[in-house]
Amino acid sequence: MNSEHIRNFCIIAHIDHGKSTLADRLLEYTGVLTEREMKEQVLDKMELERERGITIKAQAVRLEYNGYQLNLIDTPGHVDFSYEVSRSLAACEGAILVVDASQGVEAQTLANIYLALEHDLEIIPVINKIDLPSADPDRVKAQLIDVGLEIEDTILTSAKEGTGIKEVLDAVIEQVPAPENTFNKPLRALIFDSFYDPYQGVIAYVRIKDGSIKPGQRVKMMSNNREYEVDELGIFIPDMKKTASLEAGEVGYIIAGVKDVKNCRVGDTITSADNPASEPLPGYQKIKPMVYSGLYPTDNADYGLLKDALEKLQLNDASLTFEAETSEALGFGFRVGFLGLLHMEIIQERLEREYGLELVITAPSVVYRITDQQGDMIEIENPAEFPEQNEIEIIEEPYVKAEIFLPDEYVGQAMELCQENRGEFKDMQYIDENRVKLYYEIPLSEIITDFFDLLKSKTRGYATLDYEFIGYKPSQLVKLDILLSGSPVDALSTIVHQENAGSKGRSLARKLKKLIPRQMFAVPIQAAIGSKIVARVNIKALRKNVLQKCYGGDISRKRKLLEKQKEGKKRMKRVGQVEIPQEAFMAVLQRD
Ligand code: GDP
Ligand code: MG
Repeated sequence: MNSEHIRNFCIIAHIDHGKSTLADRLLEYTGVLTEREMKEQVLDKMELERERGITIKAQAVRLEYNGYQLNLIDTPGHVDFSYEVSRSLAACEGAILVVDASQGVEAQTLANIYLALEHDLEIIPVINKIDLPSADPDRVKAQLIDVGLEIEDTILTSAKEGTGIKEVLDAVIEQVPAPENTFNKPLRALIFDSFYDPYQGVIAYVRIKDGSIKPGQRVKMMSNNREYEVDELGIFIPDMKKTASLEAGEVGYIIAGVKDVKNCRVGDTITSADNPASEPLPGYQKIKPMVYSGLYPTDNADYGLLKDALEKLQLNDASLTFEAETSEALGFGFRVGFLGLLHMEIIQERLEREYGLELVITAPSVVYRITDQQGDMIEIENPAEFPEQNEIEIIEEPYVKAEIFLPDEYVGQAMELCQENRGEFKDMQYIDENRVKLYYEIPLSEIITDFFDLLKSKTRGYATLDYEFIGYKPSQLVKLDILLSGSPVDALSTIVHQENAGSKGRSLARKLKKLIPRQMFAVPIQAAIGSKIVARVNIKALRKNVLQKCYGGDISRKRKLLEKQKEGKKRMKRVGQVEIPQEAFMAVLQRD
């Protein structure tokens, strides 16, 4: 098709403002789906996603409307996935910005606007949920103008009731620029997503930026020069449909016998092997996990199952990394790398829900760099592997640049929070009369605790946080160990700043005392830095066995009690003689 009749766009929104519902309406209106098929929200495939209301994997679908080819690229909406948002945006020329008519501009609305502007996208604001009694479109419009968007005719929709849908489609055609016509240039296709199919191998979602591609053609990945032959290509309507070619401006999929997702990296450029482009498209960024945790099956016999499950998940999620790890306390498990805490939670839930696994997860840790006395540098992802203090010359930890948007009345509270978390103030800018952007450099380890929750609660939900890794900086860090009944439990070790190591140790010991249930015997808990004990508390022995209470009593009550106990045992791990619940491994993340 002539590229003048193509429009590539995405929908961006703060969570729950109606992005998925609007996408469904667009599919319905253009006849991609019948009402019956609409029952399920098509663009959010995974059950988990639907429940959490976040879209994890980018999806693409082609709509036909008024002789135009409209490619709708779905984007995930959470800060943990902002690299995924970025890559989807790179495949578009325009974005529909959905704003809830009663909630107005919120955290991710702003973050998304800035991302879209960074990618040079035409933004079409749509005020949704106008059917709500609390809807106030005029207020929302004023907010959008405040933020600096040019708004002429506001598009008002109720995705729920299906009003305003035609206006949205017309605006896409009128306002989103057509892709450049670069049909005659050498092929360049941007991979913006990929997944693994057991029968066909890797399926790459692509936006053809230049040239064209046909089955049988030899292609090359520009990051590693590996060559493949194209087996099949096509479009999403929304299921995959084979086509004879894909041309500049179009969005679709390519199957080229790639057996390993690692060789089909998102952000990479596919070019022709015979007539290669000289430069790859911008946006190739290696995805590197920022946060690591230990994952252990509560039942050691499930180790093999956990390994299989992680391998399967990794095929669809190239950002997930893992390697085998053993813990003295927890046995055999894996050290798993995540993009952030939400990513970690989602993987954990999927492992438990889709693979029926019961897991114990250790507190997330960042990657530390340690230079020893000999000048050798090692990277440590697991606090338990921290070398002895006297062997260490320099410890460095990852820092992020945090951008916090918020109304100016909360600036004081936000700055205080950043300061408490070893943040270094960098800059403050007024975005408009009463909205401020704060810049801080903060250790990543502080951000991955409950920093975001605290920021939200201190700003009544108004602040948004975005952060990017900026590099390593030397820090005065020490390893804090926890001993139960005199033996260190490696899975409870953490890395903390020297200055507050003592108080952290004392508070952690107190928290563990509350979290670890009483056992048949007394359990002393100690916190130690090196050989120095900084805290000691005692879990008293349990007096009575639960069963004794109903000794001779009726059987069903006894059984219920046993079942209840079994329930309670869930996500417990026996370490030596002591049963430790999952929460204890995360205790270090909670503040007092
Ligand atoms: P997303 O998180 O942006 O994808 O939002 P969803 O499309 O999942 O919608 C979030 C919630 O808002 C769901 O319960 C929808 O049914 C509801 N919703 C979406 N659009 C409308 C609308 O126009 N009016 C009303 N009243 N509710 C809506
Ligand atoms: Mg959604």
